Amino acid sequence: MRYISTRGEAPILEFDEVLLAGLATDGGLYIPETWPRFAADEIRAMRGLSYAELAARIMLPFLGGRIEEDDFTGLVRDAYAGFDHAATVPLKQLDDNFWLMELFHGPTLAFKDVALQLLGRLFDHVLTRRGERVTIVGATSGDTGSAAIEACRDREAIDIFILHPHGRVSDVQRRQMTTVPSANVHNIAIEGSFDDCQDLVKAMFGAIDFRREMRLGAVNSINWARIMAQIVYYFRAALALGAPDRPVGFAVPTGNFGNVYAGYAAHKMGLPVAQFVIGSNRNDILTRFMETGVMETRGIEPSLSPSMDIQVSSNFERLLFDACDREGAVVMKTMIDFRKTGRLTIPQGGMKIIKALFDGHRLDDAQTLEAINAEYRASSELLDPHSVIGVAAGRARARYPATPMVSMATAHPAKFPDAVERATGVHPALPDRLADLFDREERYHLLPNELEAVMAHIRDRVTVKEGA
Ligand SMILES: *Cc1c(COP(=O)(O)O)cnc(C)c1O
Repeated sequence: MRYISTRGEAPILEFDEVLLAGLATDGGLYIPETWPRFAADEIRAMRGLSYAELAARIMLPFLGGRIEEDDFTGLVRDAYAGFDHAATVPLKQLDDNFWLMELFHGPTLAFKDVALQLLGRLFDHVLTRRGERVTIVGATSGDTGSAAIEACRDREAIDIFILHPHGRVSDVQRRQMTTVPSANVHNIAIEGSFDDCQDLVKAMFGAIDFRREMRLGAVNSINWARIMAQIVYYFRAALALGAPDRPVGFAVPTGNFGNVYAGYAAHKMGLPVAQFVIGSNRNDILTRFMETGVMETRGIEPSLSPSMDIQVSSNFERLLFDACDREGAVVMKTMIDFRKTGRLTIPQGGMKIIKALFDGHRLDDAQTLEAINAEYRASSELLDPHSVIGVAAGRARARYPATPMVSMATAHPAKFPDAVERATGVHPALPDRLADLFDREERYHLLPNELEAVMAHIRDRVTVKEGA
């Protein structure tokens, strides 16, 4: 198994190289050269496996022998042992033919944990074997920083520094990051906005000497291994509902297109999928694209579902590659034009491929609150403002009434308590593992919005430097 770039001009890499590389050198995203495929009887034989067993079976072909099977099985088992539910990703029935897959039982209560808990361990394993290390640097507006921190905590080959805007993330979000006691976890509160934090991170990656000396790395959503880990739960849901002998539809609250693309990958690997419904909030570039065939950027407006507040969906390029007949040069030109003009169209044949499988649906904030309320009244299920967009989109756009629809629940309601309470009058309680969050000791440094100060701070704290 080797990996090629969607833009066709980067070196072809092996799994461990793709894991550490993130973005390809030609600006593209890595994807498998060919999809591993499971025959129907191979899929049938997956029934009854534990989540960790299923995960190992589905991901193994992607490793191309670059990680020992026993080592990998151990990493997978370890990654999912920290989930709070014995089923890891339980599947709940909402009505006769509608299901909810809860992806939020990991340490930070959001679906990012499913991929990142494994990714941190994979990084550590590969780096340790090479005798290398990495300094992960990232910026967060609140939602995703804790998942990266939980993924990297206590990993010997990794230091992690997460910048957040001082006073501008919620108490729960800040505490989820700053109460992690591990020595390799470093929180920095910046006297500035989220954009300032992002600019600082970009500037650090742009400072070539600093980048090399600190061995800067990222765990962002375009990393192939994150997609790979997310493929597993699509198989899990479909197997429970009769795959491969019955197709299933999926509804996915979508931001960067990583989650729903993993479902598409499962389909390419032989899983019968009837339909994917993309749910958007008011930042609805994908839903508009599905409606008009034109992808057009606009400014970002804050919504009740901040993890879906995106201007462009970076992982969409992976689907675009298939829609462009896997012609890297066409993707390269399309993406460069898109960057210049903020407008993207694809060949008619490509649009047909996408429309055959995907639908889009948007909910504004008022509709989101209404839907939370409606679902609560119908089944006593409290849904967070991201998960409910998947559910409402799936209900609105289901094409085949007799086909089971599974909606991906991406965050625990207690992660977004204000919206849930506004919609239902019920304040969702934090699960046991976080019940004492407000009693834990916080640890972070407050720094000015100055690149030199932040770089000096990191330099002082990184445990092993280049050449040491
Ligand atoms: C990241 C995130 C999403 C969006 O997922 P993508 O893979 O970026 O499409 C949706 N909901 C929650 C809660 C998230 O954290």
